Order: sequence, then structure tokens, then C-alpha cells
Amino acid sequence: MRDDNCIFCKIAAGEIPSKTVYEDETFRVIMDLGAASEGHALILPKDHYANVLELDEAIAAKVLPLAGKIARAMKKGLKCDGLNLVQNNGETAGQTVMHFHLHMIPRYKGGCEVIEWKPGSPTPEELEAAAEKIKAEL
Ligand code: AMP
Ligand code: ZN
Repeated sequence: MRDDNCIFCKIAAGEIPSKTVYEDETFRVIMDLGAASEGHALILPKDHYANVLELDEAIAAKVLPLAGKIARAMKKGLKCDGLNLVQNNGETAGQTVMHFHLHMIPRYKGGCEVIEWKPGSPTPEELEAAAEKIKAEL
């Protein structure tokens, strides 16, 4: 399953060169060309899914085990102090390439500031109302 207009399909298939750190039959893991920190990598499934809403469940089940493997290699190899996993869905959420990908962003003490947000202060009623809207659709 691929989208001929999708750059990540072409990268995942090896048709466009990338700095690949890992590859198996399901995934390719590449270095992000716009790395937020040293070692910023992207896990790409080889099949095309626009985002997590479309991602096949069997593929999804393999994403976190692979992320753990890469994270352990990052910690040892890059000596990072921590790392963030980021996964954007939809333009409003900052997704720019519409092929599912999981960002793995190593973090270093005193390094770049990513994944920061100002905590809100919802009321218990607002939390309850939001939870009910989600639960109603599960
Ligand atoms: P997102 O904003 O979550 O869709 O992330 C897309 C990411 O892909 C960005 O961090 C880009 O720097 C990265 N990117 C775009 N094109 C390429 C490419 N050809 N090779 C590697 N990374 C890319
Ligand atoms: Zn694609």
C-alpha cells in the first residue's frame, strides 16, 4: 500500500536516499533532515497510512517495541539524557508530511526546548465533559 505522491513512501522504499539507521520488512528509521537535536530520527512504516487514525493495528503494535529498541540505542550511542516521542496528526497539530511517522527526539541537558506547553487549569466539570465526549465514541 503506497501513495505515489508521498515522499515518505519513496524514502521508506529506498527510492529516495535517506540516512537510514534501521530497516526491516515493515519499517525504515531515518535521520530527520530538520533535526531538532542531535540524533532526531523518524520511524516510518513502509506502507502508507496518513496518520494514527488510519494506521493498521498490527503495524501500530510494532511501533512502540521498535521505538524502545531505538531509544535504548540512542541512550547508549548518543549519551542523551532523555528523549521525547512525538507524533503529529493533521495540519492543525503540526503534521507536514501526511505519512504516519513517529519522531524520536533525543534530549540533552541545556539543549533545545521542544515539547513544551503551558499547563491549563480545566475545572473538574470541564475534564468530565471532555472525557464523556471521548467515551461516547469508544
Ligand atoms: P511532521 O511535522 O510531524 O509532519 O514532521 C515531518 C518531519 O519530516 C520534519 O521534522 C521534517 O524535518 C522531516 N522531513 C521532511 N522531509 C524529509 C526528508 N526528505 N528526509 C528526512 N526528514 C524529512
Ligand atoms: Zn506515504
